[in-house]
Amino acid sequence: MKKLLLLVGLLIAAPYFSDASLRVFACEPEWASLAEEIGGDKVSTFSATHAQQNPHYIRARPSLIAKIRRADLLICSGAGLEVGWLPILLQKADAALQPGRRGYINASDHVTVLELPTVVDRSLGDIHPEGNPHVHLNPVNILKVANVIYERLCQLDAENAPYYQDRLEQFQQRWTIASAQWKKRSASLKGTSVVVYHKNFTYLLDWLEMKKVGSLEPKPGLPPTASHLNQLLKEAETTELSLIIHTPYENDKAAQWLSSRTGTTVVELPYTIGGNEQSNDLFGLYDQTISLLIEAVSNER
Ligand SMILES: [Zn+2]
Repeated sequence: MKKLLLLVGLLIAAPYFSDASLRVFACEPEWASLAEEIGGDKVSTFSATHAQQNPHYIRARPSLIAKIRRADLLICSGAGLEVGWLPILLQKADAALQPGRRGYINASDHVTVLELPTVVDRSLGDIHPEGNPHVHLNPVNILKVANVIYERLCQLDAENAPYYQDRLEQFQQRWTIASAQWKKRSASLKGTSVVVYHKNFTYLLDWLEMKKVGSLEPKPGLPPTASHLNQLLKEAETTELSLIIHTPYENDKAAQWLSSRTGTTVVELPYTIGGNEQSNDLFGLYDQTISLLIEAVSNER
């Protein structure tokens, strides 16, 4: 009987122990995708948010707590993007996943954060008090975070370090070639004037040297108001506004309002993995983003 119980116990435990892969809990789909690029079949990833959700605002649901409890590595954008929900999840997570520990990667700690405020006044409702946290839409940032993910995977799973190194090198090579091609393809976008809904495309516009005219939100996190939209309309009279861009999770009502008065094209960009059908990995996301922008600008001209 004892033997039988032991056997039953082993059978129950087997699926758990045979699963040798590292569990990666990503706050956003772009980091889950990047972890897969470097970790291959040695990692299993989970993203707390999806492309139809605003990563600033999700609920710290029990299912997310269950996921974070089992995670070996956490990858988030940081710079306050997840401040509304991640601290609640972290309270339930392992000590190894806490900020500053090797199980926690804060992408914005490893890149140059843009739009750092000189004066922080949270009373005005600005949800970017630590600078702009939407760091994944510059390919240079992706490479930097890829390196950090590689280092942490090696620390957590030294046995497979050569495997991670091989994957990192392959990714770096493919990504560098692709980035040069994207930049070349997007030459016509340089200097194009853009209005965004929220400042979630800052890194992209910066990289492509496009011109940021304004946001439909009066401040990051505050919904468009009539007076702010009228102000933008006034500015559009003097600036040659080419595009209004937004993500799949943002309401396009204000964009359509401004578009109908200025004749400016509205473009929905995927923003992250899963933001449209073709954006199923980081390469697809960037390919799609560039293609949609080029198409919209050429229609505009
Ligand atoms: Zn934001």
